[in-house]
Amino acid sequence: MHDTMPMRIGNRALLGCLLPSLNRRAQSRCRQRPSQASRPTLVMLCIFLLVVAISVWARAEAVQRWSADQIAAAAVALSPISRQVLLEGQTEPSYSGRFAGTAGERYNLKDDGVYACALCALPLYDSEHKFVSGTGWPSFYDAYDRVHVSHVISRSTPGHTEVVCSRCGGHLGHAFPDRAPPALARKLADEGKTSYLEPFCFTRHCVNAAALRFVPRAAASSLR
Ligand SMILES: [Zn+2]
Repeated sequence: MHDTMPMRIGNRALLGCLLPSLNRRAQSRCRQRPSQASRPTLVMLCIFLLVVAISVWARAEAVQRWSADQIAAAAVALSPISRQVLLEGQTEPSYSGRFAGTAGERYNLKDDGVYACALCALPLYDSEHKFVSGTGWPSFYDAYDRVHVSHVISRSTPGHTEVVCSRCGGHLGHAFPDRAPPALARKLADEGKTSYLEPFCFTRHCVNAAALRFVPRAAASSLR
């Protein structure tokens, strides 16, 4: 037992000699690290933030709001029901909606094309995202371009989120958090857009047909 003491003392003494040198090396490394590693990281971070800022600014500028005069001029051509929906925020009766400017295209239309704002013609929804929700109103699980449709707190129905056209501010309908119907979930999984294993949560855009004008795919490229 006694013969181990010198060894312990010896180890302590050895560590005592080594520790200051190890500490100095560690401190030196710590002092060097920020100056060597943080500069490239800071530069990369600045570039990333700049790209994000430019991207947000560019997208915000993508839709320029119409003036009151522009809205009033375009509203002259609206049908009474489109005017009630877009300008007064009313809701058409379910299972009755017809798309603006058409003779027979109803809410459950399945044709390939783009749905534009009935007032300002901004493309708002794509038939690719349209699905049968069973509500009696045209329903979409995504917008044509998310910048084109704005979400605002409903003025008429507390707790609801209203969707409006980003250019003219016309009322379109409401947005609800929802689970995809099984058929839609299968379709999206088959297309690789989601997984069979993950529940697919999305925003259901429940829109009035009278707020939209259907444009067949062949003519949709002219929409701005
Ligand atoms: Zn519009």
